[in-house]
Amino acid sequence: MLQNLINLLFPKTCPGCTASLETHEHILCTHCRHELPLTRQHLVKENDSYGKFYGRLPLEHISALLLFHKKGIVQQLIHHLKYKGHQEIGTLLGDWYAPDLRNSLITVDAIIPVPLHPKRLRERGYNQVTTFASALSRNLEIPIADQLLFRTSYAKTQTQKNLFSRTEVRESPFAAKFDTADHNKHYLIVDDVLTSGATMEACGKALLEIPGTKLSIVTMAVAHS
Ligand SMILES: [Zn+2]
Repeated sequence: MLQNLINLLFPKTCPGCTASLETHEHILCTHCRHELPLTRQHLVKENDSYGKFYGRLPLEHISALLLFHKKGIVQQLIHHLKYKGHQEIGTLLGDWYAPDLRNSLITVDAIIPVPLHPKRLRERGYNQVTTFASALSRNLEIPIADQLLFRTSYAKTQTQKNLFSRTEVRESPFAAKFDTADHNKHYLIVDDVLTSGATMEACGKALLEIPGTKLSIVTMAVAHS
């Protein structure tokens, strides 16, 4: 009753298309739910996302739930999640994707959300990947390890000349802090949108410093690049 009155006074809108949500609709309108472009990548090991990392990172599994198109519904969803405080979108996508991933992620020991730099985290107030990671964690009963991987630089790429080869060495923006209990584990890195894969590659390489590490990646969406 009270909720109906609140909805009447402050109608909730769908982040995909800005239509007002009906009382039975949660977060996304029915139309947008049906329009969301699913990749079905979890069904194919050597999918397009896998191809992005060929020769860059050894991966057990990689998949994205949605296809990201500029100016499409998915772009709107990610924008609302990232910049408008709509963290419930991450929960929706994680709850949606978890059942599809259950068999592929059976050997994963811990989920690692790509960390924001502390300064960016303070500015935004939240990491946009947290709710997605939490929903996967809750559904699949895999713990989150958010103390293992951290950022080493902020918004500025540090380069230095290598005196011997005269090539530029780019310092990785990520590093892993671990002890022997973290050895020989299968880690699942999660992020919002996979584009060139540069961020994931840096995260993966930092985690591969841990002896015996296996890696998998799951993202909310993937963009063609
Ligand atoms: Zn909609």
